[in-house]
Amino acid sequence: MQRAAEWDTVDIFLLDEEESSGELRPEHYLLLSGGLDSATLAGWLLERHPAESVQAVTFLYGQKHVVEVEAAEAVARHYGLALQAVELPTIHGSALTEPGLRLPEGRDLSLSQGVAPSYVPARNLLFLAFLASLADLGGRSELWIAVHHDDYTGYPDCRPAFIDAADQAVRLGTQYGLRVRAPFVSWSKGDIVRYGLSRGVPYHLTHSCYQGRRPACGVCDTCQARLAAFKECAAADPLAYEPGPAAGEGGAGQP
Ligand SMILES: [Zn+2]
Repeated sequence: MQRAAEWDTVDIFLLDEEESSGELRPEHYLLLSGGLDSATLAGWLLERHPAESVQAVTFLYGQKHVVEVEAAEAVARHYGLALQAVELPTIHGSALTEPGLRLPEGRDLSLSQGVAPSYVPARNLLFLAFLASLADLGGRSELWIAVHHDDYTGYPDCRPAFIDAADQAVRLGTQYGLRVRAPFVSWSKGDIVRYGLSRGVPYHLTHSCYQGRRPACGVCDTCQARLAAFKECAAADPLAYEPGPAAGEGGAGQP
């Protein structure tokens, strides 16, 4: 049996870029959920690469609400990106997919510990593996994911160490040596919004509320985090929120 260290030298088996057929192929595969973070990553990516080289992919995995898929479609349309929707079997065990599990409302996020109820078991691992399978066709590609610093306390598959390991796994497990890229991994959500506002990211088209509400509830974990990020930037969130104390902090129409 080959020793583990030797497996790292299999680069000789990696395929070179195929001869160009003159047809543009996607070199960048973007996980686009319809949320604020991945919409900002779309803007970030398109500052650096033409839209024709980017394939956006959104996943259905048994979410209780489909509004985020509609948001992904709207963001893709805004940026002129091709969007592929991939339907997976339901991922169980999360408050985002189990009708019987309730999402927390109005909790103090600074005091919350452990894995979040909205964690979806190994979702990012599954998404990146699927993206790698989609992408490992015609040459080297990069897989883009919008995880950020504030996520990784509650979501094991958003930790920088996971991203590094996923990058390694994808690089070693694909014929073209694909890579995983997460440029926001050390950014806070406030950093993301600040950057996005400066670049005109269409936040009015995005959807964040875990409860799938429009107007947004303003009290689920992600509504709270989103509102706090806009507040940190002294900006108004263009989304409408249900009336309530949290929404009054920076919801639509507020300064
Ligand atoms: Zn909400």
